[in-house]
Amino acid sequence: MTVTVATLGFPRIGPRRELKTALESYWSGKSGRGELLATAAGLRAATWARQKALGADIVPSNDFSFYDQVLDTSAMVGAVPALYGWKGGPVDLDTYFAMARGAQGGAHEECGAGCTHKAVDVPASEMTKWFDTNYHYLVPEFAPGQAFALSSTKVIDEYLEAKAQGIATRPVLVGPVTFLKLGKGEADRAALLRALLPVYAEVLNRLAAAGAEWVQMDEPCLVLDLADEDRALLAEAYAALAQAAPAVKLMLTTYFGALGDNLETALALPVAGLHLDLVRAPEQLALAAKAPAGLVLSLGVIDGRNVWRADLEAILDRLEPVVKSGRQIILAPSCSLLHTPIDLALETAIDPEVKSWLAFAVQKIEELATLARALNEGRAAVGDRLAASSAAARARRTSPKIHDAAVGERLAQVSDAMARRQSPFPERRRVQVESLGLPAFPTTTIGSFPQTEQVRKARAAHAKGTLTDADYQAFLRAETARTVKWQEDIGLDVLVHGEFERNDMVQYFGEQLSGFVFSKAGWVQSYGSRCVRPPILFGDVSRPSPMTVAWWQYAQSVTTRPMKGMLTGPVTILNWSFVRDDVPRSLACRQIALAIRDEVADLEAAGARIIQIDEAALREGLPLRRGDWAEYLRWAVESFRLTASAVADRTQIHTHMCYSEFNDIIAAIGDMDADVISIETARSKMELLGAFADYRYPAEIGPGVYDIHSPRVPAVEEMTELLEAARGRLAPEQLWVNPDCGLKTRKWPETEAALVNMVEAARKVRALV
Ligand code: GLN
Ligand code: ZN
Repeated sequence: MTVTVATLGFPRIGPRRELKTALESYWSGKSGRGELLATAAGLRAATWARQKALGADIVPSNDFSFYDQVLDTSAMVGAVPALYGWKGGPVDLDTYFAMARGAQGGAHEECGAGCTHKAVDVPASEMTKWFDTNYHYLVPEFAPGQAFALSSTKVIDEYLEAKAQGIATRPVLVGPVTFLKLGKGEADRAALLRALLPVYAEVLNRLAAAGAEWVQMDEPCLVLDLADEDRALLAEAYAALAQAAPAVKLMLTTYFGALGDNLETALALPVAGLHLDLVRAPEQLALAAKAPAGLVLSLGVIDGRNVWRADLEAILDRLEPVVKSGRQIILAPSCSLLHTPIDLALETAIDPEVKSWLAFAVQKIEELATLARALNEGRAAVGDRLAASSAAARARRTSPKIHDAAVGERLAQVSDAMARRQSPFPERRRVQVESLGLPAFPTTTIGSFPQTEQVRKARAAHAKGTLTDADYQAFLRAETARTVKWQEDIGLDVLVHGEFERNDMVQYFGEQLSGFVFSKAGWVQSYGSRCVRPPILFGDVSRPSPMTVAWWQYAQSVTTRPMKGMLTGPVTILNWSFVRDDVPRSLACRQIALAIRDEVADLEAAGARIIQIDEAALREGLPLRRGDWAEYLRWAVESFRLTASAVADRTQIHTHMCYSEFNDIIAAIGDMDADVISIETARSKMELLGAFADYRYPAEIGPGVYDIHSPRVPAVEEMTELLEAARGRLAPEQLWVNPDCGLKTRKWPETEAALVNMVEAARKVRALV
């Protein structure tokens, strides 16, 4: 039986982030709908053709999205919350983007200036991380009695679009059970599923009518801890679909882990194929012997979540017996390639030795094609490609670039005491209250201020060499000084320098630490048009010299108010990097912790009274299975404490986390022993403070009072209401006032307006106590 190659999804942003440019131009009104649609169609066509050319036999469609595939699913089934004013019919682009980003009054693009269509002033839907990735999806919302109806034909349109280009794709859908599981709302899941299935069936039948033979049904919920009810929903869903849409074969796609205790459920579903993640769960290969003979197995053998080149010979050793057994096999990446950069060939500046150890999306498809060819025609058919891949794997294991003896020695000397502050929080608080002298409800921001066009241009010019070091420094200083003064003028209490010198909160540190390399074009989508270039952590980590002290000193020199030292924490640096797979994550994290600890000590020595260590990504590092949580939290919290505990009692340690689910990890948050934590709460209306209250969280908290993901400016009353709600749950002396997160993605006018309102809201609430 011939082995074929499939991909499960390809990055949609474009090799040069073409989609980002097109979206942002559309949003800002600089270009119209037609241009956006044309760019998107061009990207899709190029992506399909490219995957084919690289040797993928089965390429997906509907993996493209203007914002997010979960939002696309909500649009497909007409799950549009009432507040967006949608009246049924096809979900239009403006409604779609309003759900994604929020919208503030103004004319409808299509209608032109005089539009009085609807007074749109709506917040964005809630956004959260997709499983344990740094990709964010828009949380579906289900109202009681929620009805569903086919409201977007995107998946069918894109199938036909590819077909017209001569490519018979395998369309991808977020499966109904995963979709429901990711959503929120009081409605009963079983009732929702029953209402939802006819829409899925209709989609499948329309796809079949259009010519689709297979459809990829993503049900990554199958790698989570599931309740019996969830398993029953899966059984019901796939039985119903098999009956209602018998013409389509479903490739039930699981990824990000093992099926584990959901294996029986998965194998019992009436589907034609099953995709398994063999990178996170290599032991699942054993299924090839056990699964029903007719089931097509798609084996995810190439890592879709990391950038390391595969050892092809080692993979072949494992696959050959399976193929010999006669089972029909498809080779695939472990998951969608959405989570990897596009093309290593664009990287001209990565150290060639390190580069020879890497593979991005394009190279991963080539690896799959090589594997398939070797399986179909014998190893000799692929020439020296196998030997080259094994040689690279060997070279990486033994390279002196990776191993630094000094780092090992320092790790061996870490003691428990190094991960403990000198005194417990109440004593530290006494000293800090006295030395800082802040008002009740102190106001602050999370760190970054708008990264304007001008800032980005200056950075690009400096990188190109057209702006001298001195001129760039002068420019950054001017931006910083202006921002500090402005914060003083509007009455903020604890100031920040604005982070203008930083390209990204992780990259900035990675670039100054040893053990990391950086890509030039290795963009990975984080949410909507926002992309990041994760650092590539390839070796032992150390800090050659101070990284932030000079900027802090400058910023503090232009104000008498406390200036926060601003650092990214070790867990976040780890979780937002592509991490080496040759040592445990916990060890890599500890190495980073020691490096940042040195920076903490240097900031304190320079005079910083407040140091913020952002751990924006601590939660998303949680393993998908609860049974693995305790171990992760143990080393993650220990790494944070190791970083933070280098200081005296009077130095106030802040941490920041941009998400809003703490119930599960509140004890770990408590163990971090920070003096102040700022969190994201605006979109969840302070609900999550309940977790802190129930836990009797002893330290101080800045619950975000406005959502920075949207350009919308919240009114003073909106924020005072949120603060009132916070006051209902926590003691007034515990509360700080700040936005949900940093402001780098915002523009100045909305930032100024929102922060002026925020300071006013804090004043109002102060007057009440
Ligand atoms: N200090 C960072 C900033 O303000 C924090 C960003 C984040 O948590 N994502 O941008
Ligand atoms: Zn944040």
